[in-house]
Amino acid sequence: MDADFYIARRRVPSRPLLTSNAAGNLGRFGVAPLAALCLELSMSSLEAPPDALLQALLLHGGCAVCCYDDQNRVTGWNALYTEFFPEVASWIKVGTTFEETLEAFLRLQHPASTPEQMVQATKNGMFRHLNERGPIQYQRADGRWLELRMFSLPEGGRFKIWRDISTQIAPGTDSELLHRLIAAVNVGITVHDAHGDLRYVNTRFFSEHFLSLIRGVPEIQRRVNQGSYWKKFQEIFERDAEFEELCLSEAEGPLHRPVTLQARSGRFYRIQEQWWEDELVSIWTDVTDVISRKRALQQAHSELSALNRQLVELSETDSLTGLANRRRFGVQLERAQQAVIEGSHGAVAIFDLDFFKAVNDRYGHDAGDVVLVEAARMLQAHQSNDVCVARLGGEEFAMVFRGMEVADVLAICEDLRRAFSQGHFSIGAQRLRVTVSVGVALLRESRSQSVSLKKADDSLWKAKSAGRDCVMFESRWPHVRDGVDDLQVFTNIRVDDEPLTPEALREKYALPANQHPGFTRSQWQEAVQRRETVDDYWGWVSYKIEARSQDH
Ligand code: GH3
Ligand code: MG
Ligand code: MG
Repeated sequence: MDADFYIARRRVPSRPLLTSNAAGNLGRFGVAPLAALCLELSMSSLEAPPDALLQALLLHGGCAVCCYDDQNRVTGWNALYTEFFPEVASWIKVGTTFEETLEAFLRLQHPASTPEQMVQATKNGMFRHLNERGPIQYQRADGRWLELRMFSLPEGGRFKIWRDISTQIAPGTDSELLHRLIAAVNVGITVHDAHGDLRYVNTRFFSEHFLSLIRGVPEIQRRVNQGSYWKKFQEIFERDAEFEELCLSEAEGPLHRPVTLQARSGRFYRIQEQWWEDELVSIWTDVTDVISRKRALQQAHSELSALNRQLVELSETDSLTGLANRRRFGVQLERAQQAVIEGSHGAVAIFDLDFFKAVNDRYGHDAGDVVLVEAARMLQAHQSNDVCVARLGGEEFAMVFRGMEVADVLAICEDLRRAFSQGHFSIGAQRLRVTVSVGVALLRESRSQSVSLKKADDSLWKAKSAGRDCVMFESRWPHVRDGVDDLQVFTNIRVDDEPLTPEALREKYALPANQHPGFTRSQWQEAVQRRETVDDYWGWVSYKIEARSQDH
């Protein structure tokens, strides 16, 4: 560069030196720019060359020169300028604005850009034209590499000098290949030195990706502090969490981890940095495709998971009643059995509607369905985190009670039985009474849950045999203390096939008809503590059921 302008001297004549000529218009290319050039090139110790030499150097010095006045209008250029920029050669004249020449350049360099991008890019180019000094190295669409320097004139206006550096990047060499590769890959590279000054940038990537926004990027000088550096990118990136974090960071040097930022254009860039010898290298990669594929995958995954959950839900739900089906019931039964193994209580009950076939036969299958749905709703009223209600199939329902004493279980079953027995189902104008038989079995640590379920089924069969509309518990008649006879509420609970009617009890224990001692809660608790009523809980059941029936 400096050799090309080996023309400068300390004292420059004050009159205009050059006039227009065939190759370029240098009519107003006066003294001042050359003086400024002398200063810039620090060649002040040289003697003034003769005018002819000066003119010859401008014509043949190997650099393109163009001058602008303080209104950014072209005032003069040399022959190489039009050779370097053939897109303006045929129409440039004194007074052409910088914007006009820039637009011609942008149209050549970015033929696909939109009018809005053009407007923005022209604006940014104007900013550069007014504020930057260079040297900026860049490759033109025709493949040539140019280096640009810009100078302000003391009386206003600017002049610019371009040098063709393509030969430095000698064709056919590794370095030329490397330059071409770096220009061709879709990766942005910047190199800052240890003082934070920008040393290298492959401009094509940045101008292509951030054309309409490129003003301050990536020619940001003196990168010292991460936070203030990143703040300068505010017009480029969305203010998402990652970008905010960068803007607030105070760390110096390279990013300690790669960041992915979303540009306002919607594209995503991954920026990775590291020291390379004394220089800080930033690599910008467009990862939009990767991110959108990742997002699409995440979306597909969550949709699939939701669908899967729906399928599982469906596969565990009875379609007519919405209750759990046999499959989910099995899972809940296993859970309750596990609780029993861990020392808790548990029981299982099977409910079968009595003479249901007759409902279908008489009122039709649809009416039967209405009864099934309504029956399910009645059972479901007792559903909780610890009580699962299921339809096992047909007119057979089941409940599993986790962590619940059998006394409470029997009380619920008896409640339900009574509700069926005393209530009715409405089929159109018809009122229909359907009773239910219930078989109940304990979950025990010493046997599997499937055996317990079988016991409940056996009890159900016994309930049917005993005349239906009753709750049958698997156990034999429990130990009852003499004198306990508050069991009149047991009207329809039976233990195996011995009915617990007050009459039967009085008969069994030869109690007088008026004897009615009953268990109080404290008596029951005492008895339990003394282990007097060990096997089962009939007294407590009595107490509970009595209490509930008094509530009703
Ligand atoms: P029991 O008191 O001995 O249980 O007599 P039942 O008539 O209820 O028993 P049975 O097993 O003889 O008949 C059950 C009937 O339930 C037969 C079948 O038509 C009916 N059923 C099974 N599934 C459905 C259903 O989804 N909808 C309707 N409406 N009826 C059903
Ligand atoms: Mg039935
Ligand atoms: Mg049945």
